[in-house]
Amino acid sequence: METTNRQEQNEAAGDALSLSCEQWQARLEEWGEPRFRAGQVCQWIYARKVFDYHEMTNLSKALRERLCGEVLMTLPIQIQEQLSQDGTRKFLWQMADGQRVESVLLDHGGHKTACISTQVGCPLKCAFCATGALGFTRNLTVGEILGQFLMMERRCLDRSLQEGVNNIVFMGMGEPLLNEANVLEAIRRLNHPKMRNLGARHITISTSGIVPGIEDLADFEIPVRLSVSLHAPSDALRSKLMPVNRTYPLSRLVEALRLYRQRTGERITIEYVLIDGVNDDPQMAYEMAALLDGLNPYVNLIPYNVPPQGLAGRPSQFQRSPDARVKAFCAALTALHIEFEVRRERGSDILAACGQLAARARS
Ligand code: SAH
Ligand code: SF4
Repeated sequence: METTNRQEQNEAAGDALSLSCEQWQARLEEWGEPRFRAGQVCQWIYARKVFDYHEMTNLSKALRERLCGEVLMTLPIQIQEQLSQDGTRKFLWQMADGQRVESVLLDHGGHKTACISTQVGCPLKCAFCATGALGFTRNLTVGEILGQFLMMERRCLDRSLQEGVNNIVFMGMGEPLLNEANVLEAIRRLNHPKMRNLGARHITISTSGIVPGIEDLADFEIPVRLSVSLHAPSDALRSKLMPVNRTYPLSRLVEALRLYRQRTGERITIEYVLIDGVNDDPQMAYEMAALLDGLNPYVNLIPYNVPPQGLAGRPSQFQRSPDARVKAFCAALTALHIEFEVRRERGSDILAACGQLAARARS
């Protein structure tokens, strides 16, 4: 409800990033502008990252003035930017109400991926995750989700002309499918040909396994990629690591993944954080293979990042699997003919790696 209210408030106030292309069209037509005008405004914002109406030079002066007065352009305020030795950048943003989130820009040889937050904190409290330890404050609005992306993309354009962001992953703070309406709406705008025109193949949602959300994605008109954080092949262990498993146990999760696979034909990525002595026994690779039989998943093994800031003020009880155990787990996956990769750690020196995002929620 909180989000819906905030969304409604933003729309009532006429906030620019809360408007879809069709809403821009309706608004500008009401003002007596031709149909193509909405496309021009959206091009400025989403393609060229020009957020100041005064700089939208193909609009009349009168229209620019009216936009300034009536359609607020609210963007996240950048509080901090940190650069990692490996080229990863972490940004700390402050939203209009003072809440803060982080997002990360990864650079693989010029190929850029924006990792975006969807909530302030997260309600799901996975035992290993720094974001979960923060607790949940609120969902981000469509404009706040898009704002992180657009600000980072503008930052790229500052540095290397005309090179935007190639991919967006919803893997920052929060659970995207618990803020489903806003995340899907943000994706519609990123994908819209008159807005950012980012292809579905370049958009990934990572979920801890929110079954109704996965079922919705099976029918979503934009075939985005799906990553599922599995982390354990049995309900007993998964419920300990990820309390959400008590609501959506593995049988229901796998059923939803089969539906998604069947409806979309898309291959699913399974994320599996390797934690020493907890979920890295090669036997668990066999259990995972049995669980996911017929799904032909792609497995992403993530070395556990020990959050140095601790989890809710206490040191993490978990450790990263040593190399020998990672190798043994990989050997089991190879024997099972499961395709996998070990995700290279990025940005850990600036606490930008998976599970390390824990922006202080308030200023
Ligand atoms: N809430 C979503 C997306 C954000 S978390 C989800 O859980 O999928 C992004 C990924 O980072 C998830 O796979 C999550 O399990 C993983 N992660 C969380 N804490 C981690 C840590 N300390 N080390 C490595 N990966 C972690
Ligand atoms: Fe939330 Fe994902 Fe962290 Fe779990 S891993 S607490 S779902 S952000």
